[in-house]
Amino acid sequence: MKLSKGFWQTFKETPADAEIPSHKLMIRAGLIYKEAAGLYAYLPMGLRVIHKIENIIREEHNKADCYELAMTVLTPGELWHESGRWDKMEGQMLKIKDRAGRELCVSPTNEESVVDIFRKSINSYKQLPVCLYQINTKFRDEIRPRYGVMRSREFTMKDAYSFHLDKKCLDDGYEKMFHVYSNIWTRMGLKFIVVDADGGAMAFSGAKTQEFQVVAEFGEDKVMKCPECGYAANIEAAEGHRNLDFNTSGDLKLVDTPDKKTIEEVAGFLKVPEHHALKSVVYSSITGTEEEFILAMLLGDDELNEIKLKSYLGCDHLRVATDADFKRLDIPVGFIGPYNLQKGKFNVIYDREINMDAAYVIGGLSKDKHYMGFIPSRDDKNIQTADLRLVYEDDRCAVCKKGTLKEIRGIEVGHIFQLGDKYTKSMNVTVLDKNGKTVNPIMGCYGIGTTRTAAAAIEQNNDKDGIIWPVAIAPYDLHFVVISKNEEFMKMAGEVYGELRKAGLEVVMDDRNVGPGFKFKDADLLGLPLRLTLGERDYSKDQNFEIRDRRTGEVKKMKREKLVQEIKSWLEQKRAEEKKVSKV
Ligand code: ATP
Ligand code: MG
Repeated sequence: MKLSKGFWQTFKETPADAEIPSHKLMIRAGLIYKEAAGLYAYLPMGLRVIHKIENIIREEHNKADCYELAMTVLTPGELWHESGRWDKMEGQMLKIKDRAGRELCVSPTNEESVVDIFRKSINSYKQLPVCLYQINTKFRDEIRPRYGVMRSREFTMKDAYSFHLDKKCLDDGYEKMFHVYSNIWTRMGLKFIVVDADGGAMAFSGAKTQEFQVVAEFGEDKVMKCPECGYAANIEAAEGHRNLDFNTSGDLKLVDTPDKKTIEEVAGFLKVPEHHALKSVVYSSITGTEEEFILAMLLGDDELNEIKLKSYLGCDHLRVATDADFKRLDIPVGFIGPYNLQKGKFNVIYDREINMDAAYVIGGLSKDKHYMGFIPSRDDKNIQTADLRLVYEDDRCAVCKKGTLKEIRGIEVGHIFQLGDKYTKSMNVTVLDKNGKTVNPIMGCYGIGTTRTAAAAIEQNNDKDGIIWPVAIAPYDLHFVVISKNEEFMKMAGEVYGELRKAGLEVVMDDRNVGPGFKFKDADLLGLPLRLTLGERDYSKDQNFEIRDRRTGEVKKMKREKLVQEIKSWLEQKRAEEKKVSKV
């Protein structure tokens, strides 16, 4: 692209809603254009990055015998009713009606569509396993679209779906996709970590699900890693333990706790450590039209991980109980507890970090009253336990039991998931197995945020002057800055531009009639891997061109005959080095 005639503009101002470097830089470097909240257009310079990302994804999927198809962006409501997600995904899904009154939605994901295609195409185990993928636009009406294309409402996703006859085959397919995914971000030169993820209500116990997280200071996700054994998990799913002393004796007695509601107030008043009190958290859980109240019990100084609770319950919706709920239940806010509670009204779940044989302070069910000396194993007949707590840095690793967890910030760019028969059952899909018996095939699904990956790459690769693109996904290879007002000289520069392009290099040539400072600033902001400078004054002295590495600042001078070869080998060398960055 010659900038004098091409389409590329940079912007001095940082948009007011841009909080993190990638969002600011994508707007300032003229990669994206904001149409409305969470809706971004990709400008020509930005779209080149997206295409490079997509090509790497395509190549790696094709190599692993996945087949690309293109499903529709609008999908019929009836498929979503069949799977049960029409109501479950309420809010996130943009639903519309066509002129005949038929329900449609703008697909937030495409399990239903692929299952529908599969069931009409395949009926024998002989055609399995098979993996289909697409790269297309998705829409999710995110509650808080932010960070530009990192969390937008319209975005591009690669979604792949695999079908298998049995668990062993699914495990093999999953493993294969794990390697496909690892190769993808390694090729892009991004530092990433693979972590255990929350899988919602799993189709079968032990179903695997992992996320690929690009490591970044401003990443939205918190990831916990054990430096001893390598265990890593999204905080949504991470398991950890505490080292605590408990008091294992005590008689149950009701005590006055005037105006003391919070754990801090109650524990302070009764002079016990906060973890010698139990925190009671009340939630309303809704599945279909059924509502149930949940009483989640935690150590006094622990916090509830709502995602763990929702996955454990497998419910459709979960919300914190309101004052109105407490009124309805006739229990004073701040004094609820599991002892003498009308169990029919509540599903009581104890966090597994609670020592069931220790004595605790709990709510007394009436205003200004608490029990002391409540021992769950003695005083509660029906104990149900689950992992409900949020882990913290320095918690003991739940896997090796030796290391302590450390927090890392990440951006979720990919997610792989064993779905089992969740959709093939609800949508009634069967194939014939070896014995001629009809069975539900089982599925895996695998997503990548392609537009989010572009933002994540910038988040990991930038400095005060702008973006520093890894070679593999840079919009162009080379920024060719020419400084001259002389027509003859510009003509020679144009010939060099032609030679570089002919050799297969992707070049932005800055031939605009603006000052050198302006050109260098724009080049740094855009951040192509190499900058080639040709200034009339310097060239007239020694006939040298100057090449500068955007990442390291290293400079080399050379004659015109050497340019193509030198630039190509420099790019190759950078590409090889960037691939080494990969997994942490
Ligand atoms: P998140 O937890 O970030 O909302 P998710 O679990 O909803 O992600 P999936 O349904 O697994 O995401 O989608 C697959 C991939 O699509 C994600 O790994 C992510 O890279 C990308 N993605 C999801 N939501 C968005 C969004 N709002 N904007 C951009 N990319 C997204
Ligand atoms: Mg989401």
